[in-house]
Amino acid sequence: MRVVLFVLAVLSLLMGLAIFGGAKSAVQEIEGLISIMIAAILLTGASIIDSIQWAVGKTLPVLSRAPVYTSTAAAAAATSDPGASTGIATSVPKGQCPNCETQIPLDSVACIKCGANFGHGSSWRIRPTR
Ligand SMILES: [Zn+2]
Repeated sequence: MRVVLFVLAVLSLLMGLAIFGGAKSAVQEIEGLISIMIAAILLTGASIIDSIQWAVGKTLPVLSRAPVYTSTAAAAAATSDPGASTGIATSVPKGQCPNCETQIPLDSVACIKCGANFGHGSSWRIRPTR
């Protein structure tokens, strides 16, 4: 959109200069000036769109990042106090890795942090939290 406006502005500016340069009467001079004015208006529109996009681009990431912060805080709260939260975290039975003491689901095959194996034939067993 902005590029189209910019190209149109440059075209009408060149056209205006050409008309103005080759003008043989006052009417043709005015035509050239009008074309240059149209170019200026198009350039103004392009810069307005540009600054709107800049403002939106600066604002939107902040707005979309906010819920992520909230859920991270909720996740941190759920991890630090697994029994208190009533969220999704408590619906999965939790256990503790015997190697690194990370909170992991009881049915995990391996620890997500240290990679300790809890499958068949392994001596590691997840310690139930409750
Ligand atoms: Zn571990």
